[in-house]
Amino acid sequence: MTKKLLVTALFPALATQVSAINIMLDFDTHSSTFFDNATTGAAARAAVQQAADDLSAAITTKLNAISAGDAGYKNTGTDQSKSVTLDSTIGYTNPNTGATISGLTPALAQDEFKIYVGARSLTGTTLGQGGPGFIGLGAGGSGSNTGTFANAAAAASAASTADMGRGSSIVAGTLSGTIGGANYSTTFAPTLGNLWFDNDNSTTWHYNHNLVPTGTDLYSVALHEILHALGIGTYDAWTNQVSGANWSGANAIASHGTGTGLIDGPGAHIAENTMSARLSDGVMQEVVMDPDIQVNTRKELTELDLAFLRDLGWETVTVPEPSSTLLLGLGSFALLLRRQK
Ligand SMILES: [Zn+2]
Repeated sequence: MTKKLLVTALFPALATQVSAINIMLDFDTHSSTFFDNATTGAAARAAVQQAADDLSAAITTKLNAISAGDAGYKNTGTDQSKSVTLDSTIGYTNPNTGATISGLTPALAQDEFKIYVGARSLTGTTLGQGGPGFIGLGAGGSGSNTGTFANAAAAASAASTADMGRGSSIVAGTLSGTIGGANYSTTFAPTLGNLWFDNDNSTTWHYNHNLVPTGTDLYSVALHEILHALGIGTYDAWTNQVSGANWSGANAIASHGTGTGLIDGPGAHIAENTMSARLSDGVMQEVVMDPDIQVNTRKELTELDLAFLRDLGWETVTVPEPSSTLLLGLGSFALLLRRQK
């Protein structure tokens, strides 16, 4: 099988972009895995880093910085003698051990989305797993639960969402509750994620993303798992647009022509064998977010993968594509509209 080498600069037009998401990888917990191996470690980390860089370049959403500790994660609302304080926390899964690391209040830089990367033994044919981290919210109040107490809770909610929402419209999750009869709620933008790869010698990994893959391509699987961390198959915004095998999001429907049958059975992936145009050259390829990948195969980001991200609320690059496939699709659509009149 002959495969073209991956083009290293996928998005050369982005040089003028001033700000976009910055996916930062943390390999600190990677010890005793192939990321730590003297022979494979450098190439393995570089492949995952390239996947993160390619997604960082494709996503134009800006995320505000969050200050560490109380300055960023604790918000108090007051009204007269009443006050409500909301304590937000975030966390992730240790990618090597599966241990839950929660209750964190770290500083996050402008546009930073940090992903903890590792490896562990995965059963069956599973190559990797990825997802967003955890969010937590606690509430406390002073003053009685009458009169302006609800105003204090509302003010705390607004202040908390302003910080944790990071000034963006992309929602990783919302936590809410009641205190003293008053409702509170905080909406969280993406902050942390986690992903891990199979590490029990049942998978023959291909590490070097600059070479034609001979084995299971780590770069391709990394793209897939990072997209899970960014919400595909995981955020509420995903679940809310899935009904059985059908997708209701407008961007993916526009890209694919229909949302009917576009979702894989268990509901966390694009349907098996779905094709879309690669960003790099417009050639049709199986999407990154279908459930599996063949050996000796590299996947690159496709237009449909990005369309799903836009349906989740992410802003992405638009694909500069004078491809005949796309023009034909538009022509067919226009014809269909005329027939309906
Ligand atoms: Zn998956």
